[in-house]
Amino acid sequence: MSITMEPNLQLNAVVENLNPFDNALSQLDVAVSHLGLDPNIHEILKYPQSQMTVHFPVKMDSEIIRVYTGYRVQHNRSRGPCKGGIRFSPNVDEDEVKALAMLMTWKCALLNVPFGGAKGAVTCDPRTLSLSETERLTRRFTSEIINFIGPEVDIPAPDMGTNAQTMAWMMDTYSMGKGRTVPACVTGKPVSIGGSEGRSDATGRGIVFVTREALKEWKMDITDITVAVQGFGNVGGVAARIFHEMGAKVVAVSDAVNGIYDPKGLDIPSLIACANRDGSLTNSRTGEPIGSKELLELKVDVLVPAAIENQITESNAHTIKARVVVEGANGPTTPGADQILRENDVFLIPDILANGGGVVVSYFEWVQDLQFFFWSEQQVNSKMEDIMTNAYREVRATALHEGVNMRLAAYLIAVRRVSDATSLRGIYP
Ligand code: GLU
Repeated sequence: MSITMEPNLQLNAVVENLNPFDNALSQLDVAVSHLGLDPNIHEILKYPQSQMTVHFPVKMDSEIIRVYTGYRVQHNRSRGPCKGGIRFSPNVDEDEVKALAMLMTWKCALLNVPFGGAKGAVTCDPRTLSLSETERLTRRFTSEIINFIGPEVDIPAPDMGTNAQTMAWMMDTYSMGKGRTVPACVTGKPVSIGGSEGRSDATGRGIVFVTREALKEWKMDITDITVAVQGFGNVGGVAARIFHEMGAKVVAVSDAVNGIYDPKGLDIPSLIACANRDGSLTNSRTGEPIGSKELLELKVDVLVPAAIENQITESNAHTIKARVVVEGANGPTTPGADQILRENDVFLIPDILANGGGVVVSYFEWVQDLQFFFWSEQQVNSKMEDIMTNAYREVRATALHEGVNMRLAAYLIAVRRVSDATSLRGIYP
């Protein structure tokens, strides 16, 4: 007897898995099997080494008390202390933080900065919090995890929904708890309290550096290209600005609510002024409106998804017409979509390479704080440029040598480095 599935069950059977931790594990699986890695090492790498969940009260401006949930996950510390951002976002959960912590391990290994990966988050909507509520939430969260982090242990940084001010409050709370000023306990701080020159632009600038390297494949220069950027925060907004400054034609940008398109090229400085003034692109007077999903489908040379995870999925990957996709966000492309892009000859620069400029300059900031000796912006930018360009070339050479795509090539280098560190150190006791 044959059993016929109901049509909706058949549909369910092919629904794409968007769980970020499952997707991170499946990317690891592919790298491990290509490397022929020891299954014992694979087993170690699948799990975060430690994680902490906290539930903590915050007094709101109305005097009401709300309980928030926060996480800090340390994926792997075989190459050094853990490193990674803290995000404030309404839907963030444990699996997202675990996935992002694992990505940080690969990112730090690929860029060869001496850190393992971590990530933290508080489930909250920062747009609905006042400045003083945000400060109380940040300080209380920091004090909840104070013994889990530290300059030699785990060093947070900004991520989605957090910024230099958040890091200043974290540094102050940590320092108050320890009874001395500890600038190296977080990176991405304002320059006046031990932050690094060039840190706030670093992720966006790094995106432009790796794009410039990739364009050499087609004998193209930044001044020849059209660009669309999804996300107009510290990653997308800065990347759009630097592309524009370097002569590219940025034809579309979008923030969480609005997108703007002008095939003749947008006036990026005026859009940045508008976003700084109003907190959104709503009142900008240039270009025509475009949805942030439609933006992804534009026929441009370079598409930079720099907003959130799971933007290019199996359902829209076949609509991508860009020649190059540069992953500004962490995990914007699902593994299924990755394969579709590959079949359609879309060249993808993976997140752990493309957006690594931020953690590279975070490393410089940490070094400067530990030495109490500070560098000029020009020194920071040129050292970061070397690291990003060399990492790009290494990944490209591996991709060509192994006959694999850029994501797998980046994973091969990164996973191999972490696996070597684990084997060399051996298993304690
Ligand atoms: N949050 C950033 C990232 O995802 C920066 C992390 C850091 O600088 O530690 O790479």
